[in-house]
Amino acid sequence: DTVRIMNLDFINTTQENFLNNVLHKHLQNEEKCFIVTGNPEISIRAREDREYRDAVKAADYVIPDGAGILIAAKYMKQPMQERVAGYDVMRDLLAYANEQRLSCYFLGATEEVNRKAVAAAEREYPDLHIAGRHHGFFDMDDPSVVEEVRTSGADIVLVALGLPRQELWIARHFDTFDKGVFMGVGGSIDVLAG
Ligand code: UDP
Repeated sequence: DTVRIMNLDFINTTQENFLNNVLHKHLQNEEKCFIVTGNPEISIRAREDREYRDAVKAADYVIPDGAGILIAAKYMKQPMQERVAGYDVMRDLLAYANEQRLSCYFLGATEEVNRKAVAAAEREYPDLHIAGRHHGFFDMDDPSVVEEVRTSGADIVLVALGLPRQELWIARHFDTFDKGVFMGVGGSIDVLAG
């Protein structure tokens, strides 16, 4: 069930349902998926930039991250059930991975923020396996980064490369990966780093 707002097809569900009945199933079944944290900036960029639009269209789930999206949906007489915050989804993925002893790759941010985010994850989620990490200032098509993520076998890949790079990177390389829940997390990684 989706609602089209600003040319993006947002999932229309509760956060709890999306996490427990959708994302956890992807992880249990090792089924790849691509999550876009949807907001007005993404919509505007998608309107202006064809490759970016195609990248966002290739996503399995666009989550309604901002309150503005819900207000727009209501105004357009297509009310949505609930806001699904990107930060909360990222936290839930880490908590679930900790519980199930799954692995996560941290891709993006500066070297310092990336290190701090991984250190925070190790502290807060002691049973989470760190599949690997890499800062976010590399060439988009650098095959060595793609290969490193692929061979890490990560169950979850958090991608913080800012807009538009994170969605473009996931979409361009998605076919290369055998598994993984891929999510563009942007500045949420900075918040995790503290
Ligand atoms: N980032 C990155 N590589 C880039 C651009 C940004 O790793 O080429 C990181 C940045 O360091 C930050 C995160 O992506 O940790 C989100 O960046 P920003 O808030 O600037 O992007 P926005 O979410 O506003 O698009």
